[in-house]
Amino acid sequence: MTQGLPAFEYKISLGQNFLFDQDLLNRLVDSAMVGPEDTVLEIGAGRGDLTQALALRCRQVVTLEIDHRLSPVLEARFEHQDKVRLVMADVMQTDLGQLMAPYGAYHVVANLPYYLTTPILHRLFTMRAPVQSVNVMVQAEVAQRLTAHPGTPEYGPLTVLAAYRGIPHRAIEVPAGMFTPPPKVDSAFMTIPYHRHMSLAPQDEEIFFALIHVAFVMRRKTLANNLMRAFSMQRAQAVSCLQAAGLPEQIRGERLDVHDFVALSDVLTDWNDCQKK
Ligand code: SAM
Repeated sequence: MTQGLPAFEYKISLGQNFLFDQDLLNRLVDSAMVGPEDTVLEIGAGRGDLTQALALRCRQVVTLEIDHRLSPVLEARFEHQDKVRLVMADVMQTDLGQLMAPYGAYHVVANLPYYLTTPILHRLFTMRAPVQSVNVMVQAEVAQRLTAHPGTPEYGPLTVLAAYRGIPHRAIEVPAGMFTPPPKVDSAFMTIPYHRHMSLAPQDEEIFFALIHVAFVMRRKTLANNLMRAFSMQRAQAVSCLQAAGLPEQIRGERLDVHDFVALSDVLTDWNDCQKK
């Protein structure tokens, strides 16, 4: 069952597909497994229905919203709730480290604006922050990417970054008709509890992230080719780095799992250090 926001013109350009179904909102919060001790960062408050469902369960909700037309609704709704901190700002222009610094560890829960799904997830997965889990509504196609296996067309940088941070789980299937207005595609709510212990620990995270980017930039090329370009190497050097990481010379980037990426990025880090000497 859906209901609209009276006299509100939804901006499709801002990814405004709102959820009003209380049962669904509660199921989203259930599957994010957040509780009374937890702080949550929400991206895209909308009318505040998910914000409210989160505030009923959590210690603190910090919610970002870009559309100032929603301020009166949100301010009226949360002005007497200390648990909710409303920040009218663009998530892509916000220093999340600074915003969340007072709260310590936190979870991210969001019905994402779909035009920004990939940049937001990329940012969350690559930032250094005490994030405990990322729980997000995404387009079905993105859900497939997040859970894809190496060698499949859906497998890409987002898959590897998600696996680096945690264990992506397709928790709830959400038909387009559950949103107001309905988006063109069905959606899925993904939960990604972060690894508690960093079993995957590249020596140099910047090189690890750069390698993931490089591996998928030209998917049809061999990884050796992409390494030569990106790291200004001779073919023999690229091949010897692959071999040192236990990888065959003809392998393509799309065949590596997250452990392979860590192993190869460590070899590249050593190679890089040697070059500097
Ligand atoms: N949380 C609400 C819900 O579930 O009904 C709204 C979700 S709606 C899919 C996405 C929300 O993100 C919209 O309210 C939109 O205005 C907001 N938004 C879009 N771009 C944004 C940005 N760059 N920064 C912050 N919020 C943004």
